[in-house]
Amino acid sequence: LSFILIGDSTVGKTCFLLRYFKNQFSEVFLSTIGIDKEIKHVKVGNDTYKLTLWDTAGQERFKCLPKKYYQNADGVLLLFDVTNEETFNNVTNWMKDVKENSNKEGKQSDIALYLIGNKIDKSDERVISKELAETQAKSLGMKYFEVSCKINLNVTEVMARMIMECHMKANHIENCFKLAPTKSSANGGEKKKGC
Ligand code: GDP
Ligand code: MG
Repeated sequence: LSFILIGDSTVGKTCFLLRYFKNQFSEVFLSTIGIDKEIKHVKVGNDTYKLTLWDTAGQERFKCLPKKYYQNADGVLLLFDVTNEETFNNVTNWMKDVKENSNKEGKQSDIALYLIGNKIDKSDERVISKELAETQAKSLGMKYFEVSCKINLNVTEVMARMIMECHMKANHIENCFKLAPTKSSANGGEKKKGC
């Protein structure tokens, strides 16, 4: 499985990767050199996946990532900062890039597309409501989730859900999420009886 992190500079992409793989958080802005990635093996039921999560090299500052960054992605995690309106306004531009550049064996419909509002720990500074973000996600054909990399809220759950969604597609399992709501579905196999 190959997942990519995209979105404006400073929205928290590198922190998301750090939180998921190392359970760490950094207060400083980490601009990376060269495209960076982390890999781990995850088990879902009887299947084991080699999961690669790709982080940008900081080229997103120029609003442009190389075409190859998008190719063969099974999942796209498009982050914005709920305290920064501009990062939310740019979501449509990022989705344009996804549509133009990504293809999974020629089929875009196989890609899991998640819009992620980060930094929800900063509730006093919040400018983008959950409702607005949900509406935007829906109009772009994405699912919406809220996280905080800082206080470790929902990061693992979002990743688990994306992994499960890809697992279900690979195994032609449908409608699992309709039967079992978000959290239990994302737990990795235990609740698959409903399908
Ligand atoms: P990137 O450019 O998208 O990779 O952003 P970074 O991961 O480097 O994060 C940019 C800044 O946002 C850093 O100062 C982080 O400490 C901060 N940051 C990231 N996630 C959170 C979060 O969930 N809450 C808060 N309060 N700050 C965050
Ligand atoms: Mg970064």
